[in-house]
Amino acid sequence: MNIHEYQAKEILNSYDIPIPRGHVALTSDQVERASKMMGGRCVVKAQIYAGGRGKAGGVRLVDYPEQAQEYAKEIFSRPLVTSQTGPAGLKVRRILVEEAVEIAREFYLSITLDRENSCYVLIASAEGGMDIEQVALKCPQKIHTLPIDPLTGLRPYQARKIALELGLTGSVCEDCVELLMNLYRASQEKDCTLIEINPLVVTKAGWLMAMDAKITFDDNAVYRHREYPDMMDYSQLDPLEITAGKYDLSYIKLTGSIGCLVNGAGLAMATLDVLKECGGDPANFLDVGGGATREKVAEAFRIILQDKDVKGIFVNIFGGIMRCDVIANGIIEAAGEVHCSLPIVVRMDGSEVELGKGLLRESGLNVQVGDNLGDAASRIVKMLG
Ligand code: GDP
Ligand code: MN
Repeated sequence: MNIHEYQAKEILNSYDIPIPRGHVALTSDQVERASKMMGGRCVVKAQIYAGGRGKAGGVRLVDYPEQAQEYAKEIFSRPLVTSQTGPAGLKVRRILVEEAVEIAREFYLSITLDRENSCYVLIASAEGGMDIEQVALKCPQKIHTLPIDPLTGLRPYQARKIALELGLTGSVCEDCVELLMNLYRASQEKDCTLIEINPLVVTKAGWLMAMDAKITFDDNAVYRHREYPDMMDYSQLDPLEITAGKYDLSYIKLTGSIGCLVNGAGLAMATLDVLKECGGDPANFLDVGGGATREKVAEAFRIILQDKDVKGIFVNIFGGIMRCDVIANGIIEAAGEVHCSLPIVVRMDGSEVELGKGLLRESGLNVQVGDNLGDAASRIVKMLG
């Protein structure tokens, strides 16, 4: 689960990590007023669930309140497209107005889950800011990584080593050690899979400050934090993902033309691989989980049909807990209801498979039943030509 920069900064601030003074505004008039309160000169920042805003015009330095209002109107008027949003961009509903800070140096800092080594890892670079991706590609030696032992946590001597590697000395170095310890504490207590400050700056006046912040919470830990669901900004999510969430279905949007209905994440991955191998291109995948009912399958089917990129549907289900005839009835119900004329290929196996296949063949839908996964995948690819 993602949150906005201003929310991430509030969390950092509650862990004694300095942030710029700021206000969140919902209209361009509010932006103007906030700018006035800051004395005119300020930074306006579009709040979206993606980075790369600086290079896309979503972060702008402002000299006087009218200019803040003018920029805010522009930012609110259309979706913001950045290198991380995809071509459709993301709607901007909130703008963070912050005091303009004189920056001397910019660093990169994050704590994230290293899934390969099953531990948190601290990542730091003295070459922070908007080009961190380029640094990672071209000069990976400039990025320091430190695996954190889950039993001992981050130790102050380790934090000091990182601060020194960033080239900090004296009191700023000590401030950085404290900041790193606090950042680690926040990552653990708030169940973050990512907590990132880019850039962390040293101001011209010599203070450390988090100029940007990104936090991703672990979805599996949301139940431990009552306040998290209310922090969500639904305007940033794909409407189909929201609907899927309501029915406890996992829907992931992709870029191709084949809608995929599967049960189980592992089977979903295998399905996408086999489709790709046959030259197909998935538009999405929808995982109905293990014990889905007929209603749930029907709802999943409706969601896939609402995806305008879908030109054909591939159903790959193993009927273990779920019976194949139940799945077949779900498909028939949903496809009939929305008058689906798109080609459908079904590969199913497991309990009551013959009954399920029979129901599909007699349904009158534009449906083919594959003999096995490979056969079914090549059929849907051929049907879409
Ligand atoms: P991102 O591009 O989405 O990561 O957005 P950031 O919040 O990181 O902003 C992009 C860049 O704008 C930063 O790397 C800074 O260089 C600059 N920036 C952000 N806030 C300020 C500020 O208050 N003063 C100045 N001078 N620059 C800022
Ligand atoms: Mn940034």
